[in-house]
Amino acid sequence: MARTVVVTGSTSGIGLGIARAFAADGANVVINGFGKPDEIEAARADLDSLGDGKVLYHGADMTKPDEIADLIALAEKSFGTVDVLVNNAGIQHVAKIEDFPTEKWDQLIAILLSSAFHTMRNTIPLMKKAGHGRIINVASAHALVASPFKSAYVAAKHGVLGLTKTAALELAEFGITVNAICPGYVLTPLVERQIPDTARERGISEEAVKTEVMLRLQATKEFVSIEEVAATALFLASDAARQITGTHISIDGGWTAQ
Ligand code: NAD
Repeated sequence: MARTVVVTGSTSGIGLGIARAFAADGANVVINGFGKPDEIEAARADLDSLGDGKVLYHGADMTKPDEIADLIALAEKSFGTVDVLVNNAGIQHVAKIEDFPTEKWDQLIAILLSSAFHTMRNTIPLMKKAGHGRIINVASAHALVASPFKSAYVAAKHGVLGLTKTAALELAEFGITVNAICPGYVLTPLVERQIPDTARERGISEEAVKTEVMLRLQATKEFVSIEEVAATALFLASDAARQITGTHISIDGGWTAQ
């Protein structure tokens, strides 16, 4: 039987790459996220053609707990359960704390941290009933170390690791593992969008943001690829990873070794 996978924030970037990897592996996948309806449908149809599973889309806003419940309900109604939950949706905002808009703080905490609580809350009963499950939280190197001007993001990502560990302990005896992936910089739309703001905050050029800020601590001096993050998600969902729980895998080119 095909596995059922829910990936939040999977209309773009890392989430789309993870959805692609699971779809190619034959899973049923529910994708989620924002975007132009025709582009989302094209992405859904493309993923659907990759394997034997079905790919559906649900547009739940990760700031809205009732819509998140509806996303998980769609997976259950369509495929019977959720075998793998990937919490990936995210946004960034770059500003000094004293200039950081309060509503932006609330939005980042909601999307990056609270949404993972809400998806888990709705998915765990299904996984307990099935006797197995995999929860994978796409955190960040910023779950382990900080950078200036990213207070909400760094705080939320550190929180995701705490939630990961707590859930892992609660679920360890139910055949359910909970882990985080901590990528360094991956060139996705989320990263491209923060380059102008970072250039302004630091008073440097946009090219210098890439080389002197983003890749400064990435010892390999290379961006991480979406496919590398997706392959790690696939590994964490595999049988080989059944004793890996309550921890994280860093894919950051050596950033957090320093
Ligand atoms: P992206 O901007 O390419 O994709 C983000 C996805 O989240 C999109 O599908 C978007 O529609 C969705 N999204 C945003 N707000 C949403 C909301 N309210 N409800 C539902 N979906 C919403 O970004 P990305 O770089 O692929 O980031 C994906 C995850 O990876 C994020 O959690 C991010 O923090 C994390 N991450 C990214 C990097 C990186 O360098 N790109 C590094 C470490 C961690």
